[in-house]
Amino acid sequence: MSSASSSSKLCYNSECKELKSERPRKGWRLRTGDYAELCDRCVSVYEEGRFCETFHLNATGWRCCETCGKQVHCGCIVSSHAFTLLDPGGIECMKCARKNVLWKKEEVTSS
Ligand SMILES: [Zn+2]
Ligand SMILES: [Zn+2]
Ligand SMILES: [Zn+2]
Repeated sequence: MSSASSSSKLCYNSECKELKSERPRKGWRLRTGDYAELCDRCVSVYEEGRFCETFHLNATGWRCCETCGKQVHCGCIVSSHAFTLLDPGGIECMKCARKNVLWKKEEVTSS
């Protein structure tokens, strides 16, 4: 009775033709509030933060972090949590952004 239309057994990654495992692993958050369900291979790539550089290298929307120069796929929902927009323009990866927040907090508490 269950139709295949509601949930696919295939990995959510359109570049990947693998079947998901019995217990699909969660990837990035979708706009619906659900999570992309990925096969084991893709989820480990995602968790290492290499999903975009593995599957989207030829896509447009890559920008560099203003601080460390790391490439971030800004035109992509997968990386939408991985950078912040800077006030003067440009972007900063989360690693650098977090560092800056910590610095600011320290300044506030120590004064
Ligand atoms: Zn996959
Ligand atoms: Zn991407
Ligand atoms: Zn950075």
